[in-house]
Parts: sequence; C-alpha cells; structure tokens
Amino acid sequence: MCKKDKPYQYQERQVELDTDRAFRLGEGKISGYLSVILGGLSLLAVLAYLFPSYLTTTELRKTYDAESLQHVLKYGMYFSLFFGAITHLLKRYRRLGCIGILLTLVAFALGGYTVPVGPVEPKELSLGVDWLILAFLGSAAIFMTLEKLLPKYKNQVILRKEWETDFFYFCFNHLAISAILIYANYHTSHFDWAVSASLQESVQSLPVIFQFVLILIAADFVLYWEHRLFHEVKALWPVHAVHHSVEELDWLAGSRGHFIQVFSERAMVMVPLYLLGPSEAALNAYVAFAALQAVLIHCNTRMHFGVLKYIFVTPQFHHWHHSSEKPAIDTNYSAHLVLFDWLFGTMHMPKQHWPAKYGTTKPMPKGVIGQTLYPLTALIKKQK
Ligand SMILES: [Zn+2]
Ligand SMILES: [Zn+2]
Repeated sequence: MCKKDKPYQYQERQVELDTDRAFRLGEGKISGYLSVILGGLSLLAVLAYLFPSYLTTTELRKTYDAESLQHVLKYGMYFSLFFGAITHLLKRYRRLGCIGILLTLVAFALGGYTVPVGPVEPKELSLGVDWLILAFLGSAAIFMTLEKLLPKYKNQVILRKEWETDFFYFCFNHLAISAILIYANYHTSHFDWAVSASLQESVQSLPVIFQFVLILIAADFVLYWEHRLFHEVKALWPVHAVHHSVEELDWLAGSRGHFIQVFSERAMVMVPLYLLGPSEAALNAYVAFAALQAVLIHCNTRMHFGVLKYIFVTPQFHHWHHSSEKPAIDTNYSAHLVLFDWLFGTMHMPKQHWPAKYGTTKPMPKGVIGQTLYPLTALIKKQK
C-alpha cells in the first residue's frame, strides 16, 4: 500500500513592525518625504516643460493637456514649500525639509509653472519624464491608499527594506519607455509576414469589449509562455530571478525586473497586439488595464475580489508566484487571467492561504548593480 503524501502545512506570515522605518504623525518624517517628493517631481516637470522634445513621450503627450497640468505643478511646488516649512518647525528631519525646499526653489528659478507651452518637435528617442511623473503620482495615490485602507500585512511599512532599489527600477522602467517602444516595434516588424488584413478587419468589426477580451487572452497566452520559459529554461532564470528577489511585496515591488526581461516582455506582448490589429479604443483599454493590474497584483492588500478571483490574476494569486515555499515554486505564470495556469496545470491557489515567505530559494545580490550583473555572475560561478 502506498503511503499518502502529507498535505503541505501552510503557515501564517508574520510581519513585525519596523519602528525605525515607520511613519508617525508629528515627527516631521511624513512632511519631509512629501516635501522631497513634490520638490523632486516639480523640478523634473519643469525640466520636461523646458525640453519637451527630449524629456517627454510622443505617445503620452497626445493624452494630456500640458497647459492644464501646469496648475497641478503650481500646487505641487507650493505644497513642497509648505511641507518643507512644517518639517523645519518639527525639527527632527530638517535635512529632508531643506532638500525639498531647495529642489522647489531650483524649479522656480528655471521658470516654475510659467514655462511657455508650444509645439513640440518629436524625437524618436527621448526620456519619459512625463510618464514617470504621472505614473508615480497615479500609482502612489491609488495603490498606497488601497494598501493603507485594506492592508494584507498591517505592520509592513511604506519605506520597507530595499524600497530604494525598487524605486530606482520604477524610475528606470518609466524613463526608458521610448527605448522600450522602439525595441518592441523593431521586434514586431519581424512578424510583418504574418499580418492578415482580413483578420484585422474582422477583429475591428467586433464590439470594443470583445476586442478587449480577445487581446487580453492573446496577450496573456504569450506572457504565460514567455514567463514560463524564464522560469524553466535554466539559462534564462538568473535574468528573471531579479524580479523574484524581492522579499516584501507592495505596489512598488512589481517594478523590480532585469532590463533584459523588461524589454523582452514588452516586445513579446506587442506581437499578438500587432497581428490582431484591434481598434485604438480596445488597445488603450488593454494598455490601461494591464498597467493597473501589474501594479495591483504585487500590492500588500487583502482586497476581496469575489468570483472575479476565478477569472483574473489577483494579488493572492501573484503573491503565490513570488513565494519561495515548495508547492508554489514555478506556478501561477499568467499575468491577466488564471485561464492558462489552470489549463496547463501550473496553478497554485490554496483557498484562504497566503504565502509565509517571499523571495528566491538561493540568496540574491542586493542593489541594482549586483542584480543587473547577476545573470553574468551566476554564469561565471557555474563555470568555476
Ligand atoms: Zn516569475
Ligand atoms: Zn511579480
């Protein structure tokens, strides 16, 4: 008689409150960080207004009104000064207040919120400073609110360990947007032979919602296999291991990824979108959905999704993908829908349980440089 395997013993994750890193009202740390962030973003925004050809993204520029955003910039600059002044009064974090005020004063000196807005000569390669500012403000407002209102781990702090590393990745991924798009377009051009005008016409004749569902499924199929290859082909794993090296998940954690993975993922997902040729409305809906879902699934949130969790990839589903516990290794590859993990037998979703441990089974280098070089160092180590 064969002995039955013992069921896996799930454990509850314990998160201790890191009092040194936590924000407390009245200390000046909150106002200090707000002053620095608003001052830094204001300075970046002013630079983007001064050099739009080099510091803004052609695609994104079409979606916002640069003159109206100068009002937002105005409030950002004054609030940076206001929070800087509060930090001075509260004394303990005066240095943060000084940095915030200094950044804002430089922004004022460069023209502030009154830099004239005119036509922009588009450059093929530019830095997505506008994309970085808008994505940071939007993500911080939506997802940090969600993490505060409905946290999965209440004791996990905003400035958790290694947040600086992930903040760097966040900035890099957004600033490099036009380089990523150029690479992705170059990659898709290799698939010109497979374009079918009649297929694209049939796709475009569908209602937008069906086009959206169609491209969601097609993109997820590609993302599933691309992701699975990164896990299961030994030579590719060190590149993807960088994304898995994060040990505390939150809205910023999903930004961590080796640049090779970031570029190849975007290039691969463009192929089905290019071949299906959906309408602009469906494509925009997909891009917005994918961007929000990618951040949401890494969030530290216990938000309930009801029956939707049987259809869409949710935080619980993707948190299991980041677990270093045995039953969850190499599972939950999908990015949008649970469909392909369910279909190909790689799904791990134990009802109410969440992971007790995140990260890789082997230790990974800390910091951007060590992680960027990791595919090389791992290869050298292996050959020794
Ligand atoms: Zn993975
Ligand atoms: Zn992830």
